[in-house]
Amino acid sequence: MPDTLPLGSTIGIIGGGQLGRMLSVAASRLGFRCHIFEPGAEPPAGHVADKVTTAVYEDEAALRMFGESVDVITYEFENIPTAALDVLQDSAPIFPGREALRVSQDRLTEKTFLQGLGLKTAPFADVTDAASLAAAITDIGTPSILKTRRFGYDGKGQVRINAHSDAAQALTDIQAAPAILEGFVDFSDEVSVIAARGMDGAVAAFDPGENVHSDGILRTTTVPARLSPSQRSDAVLIAAKVLNALEYVGVLGVELFVTPHGLIVNEIAPRVHNSGHWTQNGCTVDQFEQHIRAVAGWPLGDGTRHADVVMENLIGDDMNRVPDLAKTTDTALHLYGKAENKPGRKMGHVNHIKRV
Ligand code: AMP
Repeated sequence: MPDTLPLGSTIGIIGGGQLGRMLSVAASRLGFRCHIFEPGAEPPAGHVADKVTTAVYEDEAALRMFGESVDVITYEFENIPTAALDVLQDSAPIFPGREALRVSQDRLTEKTFLQGLGLKTAPFADVTDAASLAAAITDIGTPSILKTRRFGYDGKGQVRINAHSDAAQALTDIQAAPAILEGFVDFSDEVSVIAARGMDGAVAAFDPGENVHSDGILRTTTVPARLSPSQRSDAVLIAAKVLNALEYVGVLGVELFVTPHGLIVNEIAPRVHNSGHWTQNGCTVDQFEQHIRAVAGWPLGDGTRHADVVMENLIGDDMNRVPDLAKTTDTALHLYGKAENKPGRKMGHVNHIKRV
């Protein structure tokens, strides 16, 4: 059994958004302290953490001080610059490890890794310029999606291509950044599996959730997902395969497309995931506690689902519904304390619970 983090230790969390906030709450419930590293002012995680460092990822001195003040480092988002990780890893262990970040930071590396594990992905091709895009469109066909290799989230950095004639505008739209062209998957549903791997190599998966997006942003996750028993076990096996291949420690999100030809992996996220928020009110141990348990070297907790749940994100003006939602039974509100509300901004979420 690996060493467990002594109670009262400090967990460093890179990124101070809502995921960092909920990780910090889970950590404090288990007797740990959290120190947040976040470039932006007034981070939501700062309200519930022991300490906050406000500095950019290029600030080596700040990174070093942060690293030396914590016993273990984890993160709420995957796009941490490599140079910052190089500085941090001298001070404290980083979980999930560097390999998980390397793979998930770049869509080309990620898709190549997934195919190498024998998992199905959309057909894809490397795009570096107009010529490689034209060749990729001929090869993969249309409709297809041009996606930047790095820094894409919530549907950003993606352009749909319906014909060869869309190519030039698509390259302009992504500012000619390195990209991949992905074949369009004709899916019936989108599901995700949130799974964890402990330091001892044990794996535990939450029940897959069914996701509905609009404008590239997750709106709802529903459990149970409409999956057959074999699709359900496939989903869990896919997540376990990825976790073991990366010798992963922590919680991972795997997004899948459901098709008549099986489950196709869309992407992996090396962190707690928006589509796992239902676990807060549907399981004894939720994804945030599971992640903290893993990075602290604890045994994984019981993530068995004990309720049907619909998780609904509260985005922008949805916040006007909070007074009514507060009066609704079997409804759990989770608000992020963000200072400013903007259209498209995730301000909170609500779990609608039906006991089973
Ligand atoms: P992503 O940022 O890759 O998760 O994409 C955001 C959303 O775009 C997904 O949740 C899907 O709804 C849609 N999408 C992405 N890639 C594809 C694809 N290859 N085929 C069909 N829809 C896709």
